[in-house]
Amino acid sequence: MDELRHECGIAALYHFADDRSCHIWKGDPDQTTRLMTRMLLDLQNRGQLAAGFSSFNPDRDQLLDTYKELGTVSEAFKMAHEHKHASIMEDFAGRASIGHVRYATCGPTGRSYAQPFERRHGCKWKWFAFAFNGNLANLAELRAEVESYKDYHLAREGDTEVIMHLISHALRGDEKPDLVKIFTALSRKLEGAYNLVFLNALGEMVVLRDPLGLRPLCYATDGPLFAAASESVPLLNMGFQKIQSLEPGEMIVLQDGAMTVHRYAEPRPSAHCFFEWVYFANVASTLDGRSVYLSRSRLGEELAKLEEEMGLFDPRDGNTIVVPVPDTGKAAADAMAYALGIRSQEGLIRNRYVGRTFIEPGNRADKVRLKFTPLREVLEGKRIILVEDSIVRSTTLKTLLGFLREAGGVKEIHVRVACPPIVAPCFYGIDMATVDQLYAPKFLSCNEPTRDELAAMAYDLGADSLVYLPLDAVAKCIGLPAERLCRACITGDYPTESGRKRYELELVAK
Ligand code: SF4
Repeated sequence: MDELRHECGIAALYHFADDRSCHIWKGDPDQTTRLMTRMLLDLQNRGQLAAGFSSFNPDRDQLLDTYKELGTVSEAFKMAHEHKHASIMEDFAGRASIGHVRYATCGPTGRSYAQPFERRHGCKWKWFAFAFNGNLANLAELRAEVESYKDYHLAREGDTEVIMHLISHALRGDEKPDLVKIFTALSRKLEGAYNLVFLNALGEMVVLRDPLGLRPLCYATDGPLFAAASESVPLLNMGFQKIQSLEPGEMIVLQDGAMTVHRYAEPRPSAHCFFEWVYFANVASTLDGRSVYLSRSRLGEELAKLEEEMGLFDPRDGNTIVVPVPDTGKAAADAMAYALGIRSQEGLIRNRYVGRTFIEPGNRADKVRLKFTPLREVLEGKRIILVEDSIVRSTTLKTLLGFLREAGGVKEIHVRVACPPIVAPCFYGIDMATVDQLYAPKFLSCNEPTRDELAAMAYDLGADSLVYLPLDAVAKCIGLPAERLCRACITGDYPTESGRKRYELELVAK
């Protein structure tokens, strides 16, 4: 609803040129890059601003080469133009590739910020490309470190260029360093979320998950074909059978015809971002062994239990329906309605073709009208339980509630949020980086709202009532212990030192 954005999604493909049989790809190993666009399409939910990939091909002058453009995957790769798309695929064909979809949570949106970033060099092991998903919480310190290197200069904002220079700096000298050692040393500097895919001009690949496992990263193999992606859906759709999550602090190295898994950073308690299950990830994904769809369904069941306990009204009065805010609220809404024994109806239709539009309407009401259509036939005269995945800024929700009453003819709106209140910013790759951007802190005295606070929020939103899930529901519904999740934006308790410091500064500045 609040159109929260992720920093990015990453993907990797590697075809060992050997005789093992492969069920997924039967053609020329050098053409496996054609699968990359398909993977990136399946990761489109994680970024629509730009897309790109780098490929390795030893038979090409440009051993490593990068194609990237602004736009969605289909726009960037000219998928509506058969010949142009075929020509890109031909020019950038290779048996190893890394890919990226971008949404910028900070920094400019120009093409030079699109990933992968490629650093060219005459020495093959110093010539590399990489892409990353995440956000560094200690960026200011890292920028200062790079700028302290003799004659180094940063030409862009943000963290990607900083990581590129840190890797370049680690590769200096005449001896080819061990890839595991490079990234072990890097992990001691980086703090926050940073899943990485790396490819050099020797055709060596690294796929790495940060030591806290903040963002998900999945991988699978089929004979000679290896693939990795931010979520499981691209791997599932390609036909991989056994999809695994890379453990936090582990990296996969593909070199010398073999794949090896290494622990490059000391094990630490994981801090998987709970928001992946609640909102960000594709509902068809399974992350760290936990299904996104089932997690959202259980959140809906918890909402139903709360509804029964509170007894604010009789949901089985024959005039009450559950309505999901499309699309991420649907699994929770359906499960809630089923548990209550009432109907879940799509009273609000999302225009799927608006997408990321450059034609920004003049005001928020126009924007809401462009994105949603209330179905008067379903809503008129009804009491609706509107199920929302989360409330971050609330601006769109407020407008939507007015629209539901006015255009949909709804009698009562009871907002139910399948998540606790968002009370603190995110410094790990989600675009809510300051307390001022958040709705709930203006009303709440602590993380769990009182009845009076909820009533004040409902009044402000224009709802007849408002209910959030309690803090403990998140871990319970995902099925992971709370200590293994990052819940900083609902508790204010950050998993990294820089996160804690930045939050303190935010509170002082308030
Ligand atoms: S602060 Fe919230 S959104 Fe950010 S990583 Fe942690 S749980 Fe996810």
